[in-house]
This record gives sequence, C-alpha cells and structure tokens, in this order.
Amino acid sequence: MVDLNMGFEQLPGIGPVRAAALGRLGIRTVGDLLYTFPRSYEDRTVRATIRSAPADAAVCVSAMVAEVAKTSHLRKGLELTKVRVVDATGSMQVSFFNQAYRKHALTVGKSYIFYGKVEGDGWLRGMTNPEVEEEETARFTGRIMPVYRLTAGISNRLVTSLVQRFVVEGAALAEETLPASLRGRYDLAALAYALQNIHLPESWEALALARRRILFEELLCFTCGLTLLRDQRDTAYGPACTGGSAAQFLPLLPFAPTGAQKEAMGALARDMAGPHPMNRLLQGDVGSGKTAVAAFAAFLAAKNGWQSAMMVPTELLAKQHYRTLTSLLEPAGVRVGLLTASEKAAEKRVILARLAGGELDLIVGTHALLTDKVAFSRLGLVVADEQHRFGVGQRATLIEKAAEGLRPHVLVMSATPIPRTLSLILYRDLDVTVLGELPPGRTPVKTYLVGEDMRQRIDTFIRKLVAEGRQIYIVCPAIEEGEEGAPARKAATEYAKQLRAQVFPDLRLGLLHGQMKAKEREREMDAFVRGETQILVSTTVIEVGVDVPNATLMLVENAECFGLSQLHQLRGRVGRGAHASYCVLMTDTKNTDTLQRLKTITGTTDGFQIAEEDLKLRGPGDILGSRQHGLPRIQLAELAGDVRALAEAQDAAQALLAEHPGLEDAAYAPLRARIDQMFAQADGTLN
Ligand code: ADP
Ligand code: MG
Repeated sequence: MVDLNMGFEQLPGIGPVRAAALGRLGIRTVGDLLYTFPRSYEDRTVRATIRSAPADAAVCVSAMVAEVAKTSHLRKGLELTKVRVVDATGSMQVSFFNQAYRKHALTVGKSYIFYGKVEGDGWLRGMTNPEVEEEETARFTGRIMPVYRLTAGISNRLVTSLVQRFVVEGAALAEETLPASLRGRYDLAALAYALQNIHLPESWEALALARRRILFEELLCFTCGLTLLRDQRDTAYGPACTGGSAAQFLPLLPFAPTGAQKEAMGALARDMAGPHPMNRLLQGDVGSGKTAVAAFAAFLAAKNGWQSAMMVPTELLAKQHYRTLTSLLEPAGVRVGLLTASEKAAEKRVILARLAGGELDLIVGTHALLTDKVAFSRLGLVVADEQHRFGVGQRATLIEKAAEGLRPHVLVMSATPIPRTLSLILYRDLDVTVLGELPPGRTPVKTYLVGEDMRQRIDTFIRKLVAEGRQIYIVCPAIEEGEEGAPARKAATEYAKQLRAQVFPDLRLGLLHGQMKAKEREREMDAFVRGETQILVSTTVIEVGVDVPNATLMLVENAECFGLSQLHQLRGRVGRGAHASYCVLMTDTKNTDTLQRLKTITGTTDGFQIAEEDLKLRGPGDILGSRQHGLPRIQLAELAGDVRALAEAQDAAQALLAEHPGLEDAAYAPLRARIDQMFAQADGTLN
C-alpha cells in the first residue's frame, strides 16, 4: 500500500544515508517525490543502428559486446574503459571515463542498449559515457525519460526508479486541487494525469498538457497565497506613528542623505502615520544606504513608544548593524539590543527581560528572534534585512509577536534588484520603494571576463594583492562534486583543498559554504573579517551584506553558472574601501549567448539595468525559480518565461478569491492546503 506520507529509509536499496541525501533534494516522502519535477527529459524513443545514427542527437543503439572491456590509466584521476560493440550494420567503440566498474558489468556476447551520441565515421564510430542497460530487462528505453536535479550519492536512475515504483499509485492518491469548473474554463488536465505524465510522459503531447496544468497550479497557488497575505493586512489596524519627523532624525546621521534616501524616509513616515500597517519593500543596490532608512523607521517607532525588531540572516551582519545602529540612535535616546544564538545564557536572559519589560526600543538579531522565548511589550515595527534570505513564514512568525489584534509595520529590505514588471507580480503584498541612487564618491569595481588561459596571470595577481595586504574572495558554483550532475563545475570543498595543496600552499585559505554549521560559518567569516585568512573560497553564501573593506578581488569560477543579478551581488562584496577593487569572471564557455550575457556585467555597475537585461535575456523564469525573493519557488519556472501564463493565473486567482474569499469552501480545501504547503516550504531558505 502506498501512502503519500511514506518515507524511504525502510526501502531496500535506500537506507538512512541515501534517505538523508534525498532529503537534501526535498524528497522525504512519496508526496514530496510527486511534487519534485524533472528538470529536463531525454528522448529514448528514438532507436538507430550503428551505421545510421546521426552525430548530432542522442539515440538508443542496441548492440552486442564483442570483446572484454579494457581499462587504462591516462593520468592521475583519469581512467578510460573501452569496449567494442557490434550490430548488424557495423561496430563502434564505447568509451567510459572513470567508470572502471563497467569492465565487469558488460558481458561478452550479451546485448545492451547504449543511449548517447554516435560520433565519427566507419571504423571510428563511437560513443562516450553512454547510459547503458541490458536489452532483456530494459526499463529506460523506448520512453521519454525524466532527468532530475541530483546531489552527491543520488543518481538519476535512483530517483527514476522511485518514480517508476510510486508515481502511478501516488498520483491516484493525490487530492485534486482544481475543481472541475476551473479545469474546464482553462482547459487543464486532471491532477493525477498531470503528475503521472510530468514524471513519466506517455508522449510529448501528454507532457505538454501535464506541464501546462502544473504550471497553472503553481502560479495560481502563488498569486492566491500573496493575495491572501495582503488581505490579512488590509483588515488589520497598525500602530499609528504620528509623532517624530525626519528633521529630528537627519542630524543624527554622519553624512548628508541622498535624495533617494530622503524620499524613502518620506514614504515610510506617511505609511507609518496611516491607519493601516505599513508593508513596504525597500529595494536598493548594494551600498545604496538602506540601513540609514531602516534606522529612521526604528527612530519613528521609538518616538511613538513602539518597539522595533530587525531581523538579519547572519550573526556577523547582526553585530555589524548593532554597532552602526547603536552609535546612530543611542544619542537620541533609542535603546538598542542584540540577540543572536551565541550570547551567553545570562546575557540572553537580561536582553529578553529588558525586551519584554519595554526597556529596549530596538532589538537587532538573527533567527534567534523567532524563538518562543522572545516576547515584546509593544512590538510596532518589523524590519527584515536582505529579506530574500527569509521565507514569508518567518516574517509572519515575528509579526505575530505583536499584541493581539494589532499588526506591526513591516519594512523588508533587499539588494536584489527585481525589475518593476516582475516586482508587481512578486510583491503583490508589498508597496515598493526603490533607492535608485548611490551615495557620492564611490569608485566602481573594475570587471574582467577571462578564460582559463589567463589562469596563471590571475594567480600571480592574487599573490601580488595578498603581498600588498589585501584579501580575496573566490566563489564556486557548487559545494560538492557531482551536484546537479555537472562534473565540470568547480566545487568549493574540493577546490579549496586543491588550492591549499598545489597553488597557494603558503597562503592562508578559508572555506565557507551553506552546508557548514552556522557556528563554523560564523567562525570562518570572522577569521576573514579579522584578516586571519587571506583568501576565502566560498559558495554564494557570501553574497549577503557583509562588509570587508580590505577585500579587493572577487574571483568567480564558472561564471556562466550564475545569474547576472547574482554576479552583481557578488561583485558588491568588493569596492567597499579606499583601495582599487576588481571582479574577475572566469569562464571557458564558448556559448555566444552566455558570453554576451556576461559582458553586460563588465559593461555596467547599475544593478537595475543588469536585472532588466537579465529579464530580457532569460525571461522571468530565472527570478521566479530562484530564491532571490524569499517567496515560494515556481518549479516549472522556465515555462513561466511566458508572462502571459502568469497574467492568466493572476486573473484566475482574482476571480476565484472574489467568489470564494479565503477559499474556505470545502471544495477548495485541497487547493488551500497546497497553498499553505507551498508557502510553508518557503521558510528557512538560508542556503
Ligand atoms: P546597503 O544598502 O547595502 O545596506 P549600507 O546601509 O550598508 O548599504 O550603506 C553602505 C555604506 O554607505 C555605509 O558605510 C554607510 O555608512 C554609507 N552611507 C549610507 N548613506 C550614505 C550617504 N548618504 N552618504 C555617504 N555615505 C553613506
Ligand atoms: Mg545592507
């Protein structure tokens, strides 16, 4: 009996280690498996003979092994296993790199199906690293095969066999989320059909139907969820802040505010004085001065007797903000506190007591603010900095710490420029202010796009900078090898090892990635901030808010793997001090589209221009599919490249909610549950 809540630890061939690896992919139960969609498909319906196979497309070739396979060592870490196979039309050589086990897995005289591209002519026909299965028991041939996102220890075969085993029964158990009337109006397939065919399509037409239905559901849930959030706010009353003004606050700043900062402060003051709670997104490029604007909001709240909570994604950032805000606001009588996971128990007790007793006006902290022990006497303002690192649910947890029936003002800040067109959809529940101006006197970071042939010169350049006392970031696209099935990508862990051993054995290297414990991560980052490590090898975890003015080079490996906005964020980590700074994008891609895309970054330092360019080149799918916004992810995001599909789902959501406010009708319970699930999963997005 299949059950949607069933886990996989107990299954033969899985066990706790693989179950944990599956968990990292978000696949813990049969239900999760159903909703983890393939990222692409392979057409294994096309068969060809050795002689007739085209050189430019992968096909299935059935052939017999003609001789015992031979393995040779080409060099350290590189083994080649070769075997000759034949069919009625000819023979070809099949080559496997680093798969020595094939030698024993392939029996002479037996027929197998080899899936791959056949290259070369005549005697030289051959396939490299094909998928192989025995002809007699073939389960993967003759079909459209799904390709899933992977992680170390999990192969596509493993996920596919789980799917083959559970998806049909599972899909039949999944409760239909869209009532028949809605499916009829928009011409959508039933859920069971869609789930089954998105994993194991019967045909390309069936796949298209399945994807259309599932994308519609994702977008509908997404927009319904956002609208429900906004409706909650419109009916709540907010802590009106009519006292205090920018004129009292500005003299506290050590600099003259930019025009954009003044405007943003004006908008906040109007919001906070109104009858409904503020819900505003402050978007501003890295370094545009969002902290000062947030300080003003906290100042206003305090002047009206309300407490503020400012949530940031890392301990380091919390400390940084605590220092800045204390020196800024304490002279005006605003009492500031700090709460993270690492204060001593006694200190923590004092802070919590002062907070609950109303003796603190502003608390700056990490996720520690979300725990049950944290209580306020009069919470009136919630600020989330680098908000894409938080889920909507986490924001909600903090908001709920306000007094019964009262909804605090909310200010979320983000340095991720989201193009206006999309932010209207993504942030339906928020009003948006853009800080479109940098404070004067910044020197732009020099950016270069280079290939592997420049490697030695870059290494020399790194040594030169380090000798001058500067520090370096090196960012890799992956943590461990084999992630996402891309062996060519640099993985931070391995790469750091290699650099330490072979390239910079005399320099001090740190390593930072999202799968390290929070404590370890803070320690590594601290060591870099204090200058103890000279080079920090990292994944994109360092993308967020930290200020190390002494770091002057950002080297991005496999730059082709990153989105433009992400590269822009990474570049924002340097150029924060008095020294000239550089950003080097390393890539060996020959793809002209990719190269053109990357050139956008070398050509401008304007984050919004880059984001618009990204949107034009790649479509909104990239933004909807990534965790750049703290909202649920649309898995079928490439399809969302069609802005029309989004608009359609938005219309449907509006009509639906107008007719059935809150979706409280029993007929909509499964849809409502799906929305809640989607938004709950948007929690804990620290990567
Ligand atoms: P971000 O928007 O990236 O959070 P910050 O608030 O950290 O930016 O500000 C970046 C730096 O610029 C800080 O050192 C801050 O003191 C400084 N800064 C902010 N506003 C101004 C201004 N109007 N004039 C000069 N410096 C400013
Ligand atoms: Mg900031």
